[in-house]
Amino acid sequence: MTKLIDSYNRSIDYLRISITDRCNLRCTYCMPSDGIPLMNPDNILRYEELLRIIKICASHGITRVRFTGGEPLVRKGVVDFIKNIAGIKGIEDLSLTTNGVLLKDYAMPLKNAGLNRVNVSLDSLKKDRFQKITRADNLEDVLKGLDESEKIGLSPVKVNVVAIRGFNDDEILDFALMTKEKPYHVRFIEYMPFDVEAGWQKEKCITAMEIKDVIEKHEKLMPLDSSKNRTGPARRYKFSNAVGEVGFISPVSDHFCGSCNRLRLTADGKLRTCLFSDDEIDVKKALREGASDKEIENLLFNAVRKKPERHYINDNIFKKCSRTMSLIGG
Ligand code: SF4
Repeated sequence: MTKLIDSYNRSIDYLRISITDRCNLRCTYCMPSDGIPLMNPDNILRYEELLRIIKICASHGITRVRFTGGEPLVRKGVVDFIKNIAGIKGIEDLSLTTNGVLLKDYAMPLKNAGLNRVNVSLDSLKKDRFQKITRADNLEDVLKGLDESEKIGLSPVKVNVVAIRGFNDDEILDFALMTKEKPYHVRFIEYMPFDVEAGWQKEKCITAMEIKDVIEKHEKLMPLDSSKNRTGPARRYKFSNAVGEVGFISPVSDHFCGSCNRLRLTADGKLRTCLFSDDEIDVKKALREGASDKEIENLLFNAVRKKPERHYINDNIFKKCSRTMSLIGG
């Protein structure tokens, strides 16, 4: 097997796939209030096309696949699709990133289909503030979705919190203390420059270390060996008598590009080698023009060869992406 190794000698074994541009929420930092113009359904990769691409990727060392969106659970047939992926030789880990609104009803079917674990994006535990961020009133549904996922054995159940200064930084401790009672992995993600409306401001970004300091004013966190059970870039900790853990992801203040192992596929069939780079390779066009598996493999290897060394958020040359987060899938 020829593995995917980029020009910085990083082994690429993780594919994040956005399976839809649609979402049932309108989060302020991700979508304008009236949403974004939806893609023509014909432009979206069909499940059989995705299956073919994933098989080719698996034959070159991709072992982990994550499904994202928009909101992946709004796409019809997602459970059967995941069942088909679970059967692909070489794929060892299947995960999903969701806003959790539909999760309560999908958790068990997803688990039975072969999904291993779930990440739920949640930026507030306050009903009114949740409504303000998402422009919807579904906090209860999300919390029930978390509970159900834990109950039926999706593991770990991760809660992704984007901490924004002056917005939800007063809830940092509440989120961290969830891990005392719940086996959740609460991960604080630094605020990245994808904001569509207000425009990202660096001063609103709270660094991972600042977030940790806020928590440790209350109680010390014990470091966990982040190299063990490594399922992401988070630095992991836990409170002494907690069942869950707290993690910090610092793409802005202390990036982890040196160990980047990921490739992204957008819902409209573009391979992106970096979250922050607009360099894309159009796989859908090749597929629909009748490309052979060999030709698709060549596109894959070309993409990996061009993978940038890192992002340039903190550099003057940084240019915001042309896509919103909902069109990349995080
Ligand atoms: S910013 Fe780009 S290179 Fe860095 S970790 Fe993310 S995807 Fe990888």
